[in-house]
Amino acid sequence: MPEESMSSDLKPQQPSAVRIYGKAGSAIAYTIRDFLARCDIPFEWIELRSDEEARMKASAENLQDPRLPVCVFPDGTRLESPTQRQIIEKLGWYRDPSHTEYDLAIYGAGPAGLGAAVYGASEGLKTIVIERFAVGGQAASSPKIENYLGFAHGISGAELAERAREQACRFGAEILLGREGVRGEFSTGKRVGYLADGTKIVARAAICATGIEYRRLGVPNEERFAGAGIYYGAGSSEAAQCWKEHVFVVGGGNSAGQAALHFARFASKVTMVVRGDSLKSTLSKYLIDGIYATPNIEVLTHTEVVAVHGDELLHAVTLTNNQTGQQQTFETSRLFVCIGGLPHTDWAKEVGVVRDEAGYIVTGPDLLHDGRPRNGWPLERNPYYLESNVPGLFAAGDVRHNSVKRCASAVGEGAMAVTFVHRYLQEG
Ligand SMILES: Cc1cc2nc3c(=O)[nH]c(=O)nc-3n(C[C@H](O)[C@H](O)[C@H](O)COP(=O)(O)OP(=O)(O)OC[C@H]3O[C@@H](n4cnc5c(N)ncnc54)[C@H](O)[C@@H]3O)c2cc1C
Repeated sequence: MPEESMSSDLKPQQPSAVRIYGKAGSAIAYTIRDFLARCDIPFEWIELRSDEEARMKASAENLQDPRLPVCVFPDGTRLESPTQRQIIEKLGWYRDPSHTEYDLAIYGAGPAGLGAAVYGASEGLKTIVIERFAVGGQAASSPKIENYLGFAHGISGAELAERAREQACRFGAEILLGREGVRGEFSTGKRVGYLADGTKIVARAAICATGIEYRRLGVPNEERFAGAGIYYGAGSSEAAQCWKEHVFVVGGGNSAGQAALHFARFASKVTMVVRGDSLKSTLSKYLIDGIYATPNIEVLTHTEVVAVHGDELLHAVTLTNNQTGQQQTFETSRLFVCIGGLPHTDWAKEVGVVRDEAGYIVTGPDLLHDGRPRNGWPLERNPYYLESNVPGLFAAGDVRHNSVKRCASAVGEGAMAVTFVHRYLQEG
């Protein structure tokens, strides 16, 4: 594989790929690659290594030129250091809400939000979806989902998400990408959401499907290397850039296992850093079998990352054995962190939505004490299974207290939430 022109996957590069020119460690370039990979849009990453290359290939003055990274689209359009919104606009996906009021507003376009969008829109509800980044959520960062019903040979999370986006849009759902819900207001009887850009979304019912945020390692200097050597999630967009390198994957769960197997196709060596004593209790059997059958994957158990080192880029990581205390530093420029996440539901706290200690939204039977809900529940009936303590506000997928953290269950909860939305709306 040529070093300077590597695709986002092993499949042959399509001539229609977006070309991204930038220097190593550019966090903006990483965000662009990550966004395009999640949207299942082919791209070519052309890493500029000298001022001369910056001039010749990207028409920039030098490697420090603030116009880098440069994106060149198949139609020849050139975007310099583009914002996420500019890219979404260029893809033709930027839109404003077309109605002043919706039947259903869905926050988050991961599997749960997309599931709700397909069922809501196909069942005649005027449906809008608000997604702060790209469709697919965590699943879109998965190189291969092997346990999703109907895909016997697996499917990449990005492809699954893109299919679902298309399906939801075909049924008439409106999807606002790159827009973040930041505040809710329920006092008017409507479910009103305010987006970070000031847009107001009014709906008769709402589903919160905002999933979880990747958990940080909590080591000094970590933020400095985010996108410049430290990546959160399975880093699908980065695999091809790991060619013949030694990369590290932190975590012992399914997402870490998938990431390790994927990187092993490109990297010379993959080291899995696992805090516990084995993979058995945390990983699906098919992944364990795959890992132990792959000679260039090494598993270090009882091990944690305690320090990261570098200048502008990550150069090394220090690991410690949590039984012996022995430390060792390894040179690497890529560390992938797959240690789960936590929900970001501060907005819910502000408006009295009941959450558990970790911030997950509590719904249905979990709200009951002696058979009845507390916290000022205003109706005769008890909350529906996925309904929060605010009537007409539902939660689906990973953001929900006690949810099963799986793609299929998130999609299922999204679909199920729509059934309860219908019941709620029929109550008038
Ligand atoms: C690398 C990886 C591999 C995985 N592999 C598998 C697998 O093989 N099989 C399996 O069953 N499960 C797998 N999982 C787990 C599965 O992907 C998750 O359980 C599933 O994605 C949860 O879906 P969700 O819609 O509830 O939440 P998420 O996927 O977390 O999606 C939430 C969405 O909400 C958006 N959002 C958050 N806050 C806001 C806001 N304020 N406003 C607007 N949008 C917002 C986020 O950007 C995100 O797109 C994997 C997870 C990872 C990370």
